Amino acid sequence: MLRAGSIINGKEVIGKDSSVHNVKNPYTGEAIGTIEYASKEDVEAAVTAAHQVFHSVMKTMPAYRRAEILRKASDLLEARTEAYAIMLAKEAGKPIRDGRAEVGRAVQLLRFASDEAKTMHGELVPMDAAIGGEQRLGMVRRYPIGVVAAITPFNFPLNLVLHKLAPAIAAGNTVVLKPSEKTPFSAVMLAKLFEEAGLPSGALNVIQGAGAELVPTLVTNPLVQKVTFTGSSQVGLSIKQMAGLKKVTLELGSNSPNLIFEDGDLDKAARSLVKGAFAFAGQVCISAQRIYVQRAVYPSFLERYIPMVEQLVSGDPLQEVTDLGPMITEEAALRAEQWIREAESQGATVLTGGKRKGTMLQPTVLTGVTHDMKVMCQEVFAPIVSVLPFDTEEEGIRLANDSDYGLQAGVFTRNISRALRIADQLDTGGVWINEISTYRQDNQPYGGVKLSGTGKEGIRYALEEMTEMKFIGIHYAE
Ligand code: NAP
Repeated sequence: MLRAGSIINGKEVIGKDSSVHNVKNPYTGEAIGTIEYASKEDVEAAVTAAHQVFHSVMKTMPAYRRAEILRKASDLLEARTEAYAIMLAKEAGKPIRDGRAEVGRAVQLLRFASDEAKTMHGELVPMDAAIGGEQRLGMVRRYPIGVVAAITPFNFPLNLVLHKLAPAIAAGNTVVLKPSEKTPFSAVMLAKLFEEAGLPSGALNVIQGAGAELVPTLVTNPLVQKVTFTGSSQVGLSIKQMAGLKKVTLELGSNSPNLIFEDGDLDKAARSLVKGAFAFAGQVCISAQRIYVQRAVYPSFLERYIPMVEQLVSGDPLQEVTDLGPMITEEAALRAEQWIREAESQGATVLTGGKRKGTMLQPTVLTGVTHDMKVMCQEVFAPIVSVLPFDTEEEGIRLANDSDYGLQAGVFTRNISRALRIADQLDTGGVWINEISTYRQDNQPYGGVKLSGTGKEGIRYALEEMTEMKFIGIHYAE
């Protein structure tokens, strides 16, 4: 049985008389270990440690050293790929092949961060553009912001955590991380790995426990300068309200649309949308939730798509053959199943799937849906996708945009003019042409509009959000 706690100023808080919680394997339902929850005093101690280490060490640590730490962390992670992938399978129920892919991405992400630490540069301002500005030099330099509070969800326990830690360290900040209470062990493994890579004690602190209990204490602490949150829109909104004048980045939910035109590559679209809708049981923020297919090719798309969905192998995440594992909790799976039943009662048709056993929900394809059904207008965050026909380009764009969310969209067409026209008009933070909404690369700017959030991640862009610009002027006339 695993046992872990918070990590504050380099020490694991364990064996205190604090509350001990079981962490369950979502597939077997068995406890994989225990985690000791932090108190509010622990949160304050973690922020104080982060603040002190920022001022005493990180603020003045040279860029080459920060780059070395990040590079070492990526090498250590790469060497331990299997151990991390197994942990993701056990605590998040992630199929082992997807777990290895997540570790691979995390390794690259740390390398991007290592490179960015060395290349982050400022700019010169042409001061002589104004009368009286002669012989003045204006510079803009970026400085670390200080203590970053990072709050993360369960679905990518490495990547989503590193989307915050890696740019924070690259910039010279310190961090207090509150990982999901469902995936606490991989966060502890990461914190220990950073220490081994040479990150000073106290530069990365981890507090374990329920978000509703601990996050308000963390976010409202005056020593925290920046809050970066990934999770549901509802919680994101409450964090923004708590944060006051602090800088806030919110990476929130979505119900991503994918448009397939009659001139698109149907085989590629069908193949990639199987992964796009059902990877990690649909528990992905950019999962393909709404597929709109131009009417002329709608039947041929379904002829290709449904058999591929039915071939997916559901089962134990630790087995190599498994494509689809459990949902994170039985409660989440039950909620998703209820949305399917509700949609059916409102006139939708289940083309395949629709049944649940415990945390396992079958990959489900719906049609006959309308935009007021929960499976369409809310985020399903489950292995459920809806497919609808459309007629014209205008209608496709209107349907895709008819959402409270706007994270990323996919468009399949071989007509480049149409592709660019659509990209211009989609109300999303990102658009992929001839690729699914679910594709993300960690050096691209990534972040949504509307209920999908505010601010951007992607190492270089996150670095901008985790640094303060300072203007420095010199008047060199005698
Ligand atoms: P969540 O329930 O919003 O939890 C996210 C984090 O917030 C966790 O650390 C959680 O702690 C904490 N939290 C929960 N309730 C809170 C409250 N009332 N006050 C303060 N903090 C609270 O999200 P999730 O279920 O873990 O993850 C799924 C969501 O994340 C989906 O909506 C998905 O779209 C979104 N997501 C977005 C992106 C993106 O990049 N845009 C990426 C991945 C996921 P506890 O676990 O301890 O409750």
